[in-house]
Amino acid sequence: MEDSLFQMALKQLDDAAKHIKLDPHIHAILRQPERELTVAVPVVMDDGHVEVFTGHRVQYSSVRGPCKGGIRYHPDVTLDEVKALAAWMTWKCAVVNIPYGGAKGGVRCDPMKMSEEELQRLTRRYTVMIMPIIGSRKDIPAPDVNTSAKTMGWIMDTVSMFEGRTVLDIVTGKPIELGGSLGRREATGRGVMIVTLEVLKKMGQALRETRVAVQGYGNVGSVAATLLNEAGCKVIGVSDVTGGYFNPMGLDIKRINEYVSCSKNHLLEGYSEEGAEAISNEELLELDVDVLIPAALENQITEENADRIKAKVIIEGANGPTTPQAERILTEKGIIVVPDILANSGGVVVSYFEWVQDIQVFFWDLDQINQNLKRILVNSFEEVWSLAKKEKVTMRTASYMLAVNRVAIAVRERGIFP
Ligand code: GLU
Repeated sequence: MEDSLFQMALKQLDDAAKHIKLDPHIHAILRQPERELTVAVPVVMDDGHVEVFTGHRVQYSSVRGPCKGGIRYHPDVTLDEVKALAAWMTWKCAVVNIPYGGAKGGVRCDPMKMSEEELQRLTRRYTVMIMPIIGSRKDIPAPDVNTSAKTMGWIMDTVSMFEGRTVLDIVTGKPIELGGSLGRREATGRGVMIVTLEVLKKMGQALRETRVAVQGYGNVGSVAATLLNEAGCKVIGVSDVTGGYFNPMGLDIKRINEYVSCSKNHLLEGYSEEGAEAISNEELLELDVDVLIPAALENQITEENADRIKAKVIIEGANGPTTPQAERILTEKGIIVVPDILANSGGVVVSYFEWVQDIQVFFWDLDQINQNLKRILVNSFEEVWSLAKKEKVTMRTASYMLAVNRVAIAVRERGIFP
């Protein structure tokens, strides 16, 4: 049986702890979230009946700074999943060395079946339910799966109404007009592109000869596919929850983007182009490509299909798409995995820039944002790559070694209260 997501997160932590010879007391502290909150979220639905949803906010660690992490809306959200995602946020912020701890939130609901009005009421009620623990210097939410700038705008407005003033720095990923940052929407996908180019450089692989497949065509996957295509790579497969498309000559990414910009829920369903055939999500993962980018949900590359993966490198746009059992198989096959906490950290890095801009009430131009993002990601990539080479470990283990060590130092220096 596969582990639960939080067990998987703990395994990754335990592995790093062994490598860095982590003090067992600090290890014990890092194996538990600081705080878990579960809330009931009653919503009056459009037809008048009341639905009671369950929401969570988990603050995994605040030792290096305020907790930070997104909020997801999905029918499969569980406390276990949110705990794992909150742990991963902690390591993610540490590996790129931004001054945050880690958190995550989620509401178990099916946003595809809800109206915008229902989603707004859900968001506002959930916000009030977690208000006792969030705050611009305590815990700053952001978008994640099925939440967007619009959702963040509602959170910002709800908190502002309660405080009786406009509070910009309570949440990141907001609309630009409400104190959001230029480049934040594209930041995760842009980061995926940046690390992909770095790893291809190390492999001596020419961009023109690089074939890419992307699973998930949402905020992360679509931007990554578009930017890699612009950089010269051939994107031969893309997919989302409705299925995928494959064109060995390279898909017409511009045409796909035009299609999803007006399709229902921005999904790929019904797309067609000459030379492209419909494929399943399973088939997409097993395409003969150089780069595979899982940018959807957790647990996509497992013990079951790892052996059939043909990519040379996997860039984890999603959080937790590869199980530890699968990673062992991939590593044996010589496949490089650039782990989620590094590969998809572009989003939280630009969230950090947004928060800094909100606090200063002084906004940067897009060049400044993209340059700073690139500098942070290229440096972190280099640090992880050279540690992995030096210690002869995977990039995931190297990332965890760096991240866990940074958090452990903070725990040690702060001491244990009281
Ligand atoms: N939800 C994104 C992630 O998993 C972004 C989090 C943030 O910006 O705080 O990294």
